[in-house]
Amino acid sequence: MMPVNHPPSERLLAYSTGAADVPLRLLLETHLSFCPACTREVGRLTAPGGTLLEAVPEEPVPAGLFERIWAEASRHEPPRPVEGVPLPASVLAELPPAEAWRWHPVPGSGSRTARLVREAPGGCGLFLVQMKPGARFPRHAHPGGEESMVLAGGVWDRGRFLEVGDWDSAPAGSSHELRADEKEGCWALIREECEDVKLTGWRGVLQRAASLLSH
Ligand SMILES: [Zn+2]
Repeated sequence: MMPVNHPPSERLLAYSTGAADVPLRLLLETHLSFCPACTREVGRLTAPGGTLLEAVPEEPVPAGLFERIWAEASRHEPPRPVEGVPLPASVLAELPPAEAWRWHPVPGSGSRTARLVREAPGGCGLFLVQMKPGARFPRHAHPGGEESMVLAGGVWDRGRFLEVGDWDSAPAGSSHELRADEKEGCWALIREECEDVKLTGWRGVLQRAASLLSH
């Protein structure tokens, strides 16, 4: 099944020109692995660059270049697939190994999150979220923007049901709650503009208490 919701065109442009930060690039790469339409669009956006490269006169390839590239590539072990997490191999290769992911349960919700990439302290981050079937991720507010995509299963967000490959954005300052598919639950990949997601209500009180204890 093809994704129905896609990243905005300026995000694909940022990807094509190399302007995307690491969390955004990995999130877009994951969407592209599910979406032939956006992959075609990225191909179209990068075509002028390709034409430019083609116009550069051909230089002879330095002796031993391919051998060096091959030796370098074969020194890296291929990433192992992580059970239940359909991240493309190219994305897994840039992440710390799954054993190093530190999972944090979201109190009383049947959900857990792990930060995979941190761009800079206080900057944006890339998170993996797992929700059990029917789990509710409590209402929370984002000081910065949030972009996400469904990796497996499905999720209800603001009246829409998002399925595998679907892209979603929540503007800075917005708040929402999520409910996972009743049968399959949900895996999602999320880029937070600012990592400090604030839970509201009594879970917010618990979150603030936990953060005081962890310092
Ligand atoms: Zn797409």
